[in-house]
Amino acid sequence: MQPNPARLEELVRGILMEIGEDPDREGLIGTPRRVAAALTFLTSGYRTDPRGVINNAIFTQETNSMVIVKNIELYSMCEHHMLPFFGRCHIAYIPNGKVFGLSKLARLVDVYARRLQLQERLTEQISTVVMNEIDAKGVGVMIEAKHLCMMMRGVEKQNSSMITSSVLGAFRDSQATREEFLALIGQRGT
Ligand code: ZN
Repeated sequence: MQPNPARLEELVRGILMEIGEDPDREGLIGTPRRVAAALTFLTSGYRTDPRGVINNAIFTQETNSMVIVKNIELYSMCEHHMLPFFGRCHIAYIPNGKVFGLSKLARLVDVYARRLQLQERLTEQISTVVMNEIDAKGVGVMIEAKHLCMMMRGVEKQNSSMITSSVLGAFRDSQATREEFLALIGQRGT
């Protein structure tokens, strides 16, 4: 279901008044409309089926080599403050006869990132869908992100970033596979 634009604009207008602004002053006239459009876009992942994104781009390929896509740009919003967090996502998998089309993993990241998220859950959702859609032998996902709710308010730790990872199948079972993954994305293994 699409958000109702008029209703969203009215709610944003209410927020502006509540924080002490005048929503009718020149600079803010178009703001409810823009914020409503931005929020609709940034939450479009609720209304996008991940399978629809990847459906036509799964290919048969006999390989046991690890496939890795590094540095996928990621922009999401934390569910606690509705403030952005952003960073990079690395995805690796060991195919089991099927591989993803090149751009599809990035699209998949967008689908889950354009929702209110916890970084941990986002990481797990990506690894799970990759695992399930191609019945992979293993999947490793790592996200490194900075959270504006930490940087702009409260503790104001400007340079801290949060790293989360989710490993499934061979990535969970085999230390060698995990180390190969970490080495390929440029993180030190433990
Ligand atoms: Zn937050």
